[in-house]
Amino acid sequence: MAIESNKTVRLSRQRETILAELRKVKTHPTADEVYDMVRRILPRISLGTVYRNLDFLSSRGVVLRLGGAGTQKRFDGTPEPHPHLRCSECGRVEDLMAPIHLPSLAAEEAMGYTSLRCDVEFVGICPMCANSKM
Ligand SMILES: [Zn+2]
Ligand SMILES: [Zn+2]
Repeated sequence: MAIESNKTVRLSRQRETILAELRKVKTHPTADEVYDMVRRILPRISLGTVYRNLDFLSSRGVVLRLGGAGTQKRFDGTPEPHPHLRCSECGRVEDLMAPIHLPSLAAEEAMGYTSLRCDVEFVGICPMCANSKM
């Protein structure tokens, strides 16, 4: 019994650390990058534990999971849907800090869907990659 409760406490501490580290950055890190950040605080944590906790947190809407098929999943400590910019050259993902009009939800309604959220991602070339090509 005592061992069980110890295990639970340790798991929640790992989860809290993962969440706290993710919320510190605006870089939308991959699971591997989150692992590198968390390992500085919890040197014994495994990559599998980081993956499992990120899955858990994103399935409960505590963090956002970004990225579709063919791209590495990235994680965002801001759970509210917000528009992103992704660089097709270096893969960086940034929050779009400019007001935009989100697409109307009428299209989904016409198809009989109830919209839960709308993910907006612009794909382009970031200024640093554009400059390095000149
Ligand atoms: Zn770039
Ligand atoms: Zn974001």
